[in-house]
Amino acid sequence: MREGYKSILEFLEENLEVEEEQEHLYNQLAVASKDIKVKETFQHLARAAKGHRDAIGRIIRDIESDNHDVSFYCLMCGWEINFGKMPSVGNEERCSLCCQKFALVDIANDYSIKSLPQ
Ligand SMILES: [Zn+2]
Repeated sequence: MREGYKSILEFLEENLEVEEEQEHLYNQLAVASKDIKVKETFQHLARAAKGHRDAIGRIIRDIESDNHDVSFYCLMCGWEINFGKMPSVGNEERCSLCCQKFALVDIANDYSIKSLPQ
């Protein structure tokens, strides 16, 4: 498991399972439906669940292959602060909008940020 992403990966894996279950259920309901409109609705929902599953799977693969930017929202103004791919804990970045400086920290295998004095 990639350092710094413990909770995010757990969350994504749980969501991946939910989308897989939903796709399976919607496909079963589509097969069982006699009404063509109901069948099409379930087929549409199954395709949507597959799309979500594929997107979540891509994010997980990007994280596991270190091809994912570590970014946070500025605690002062909400602007994005990007630490880039494979950052080291302790790296510092400044918010490009409000200039507040932050350090990347690790809390129980989850990346987080800490405000630094100006
Ligand atoms: Zn800011």
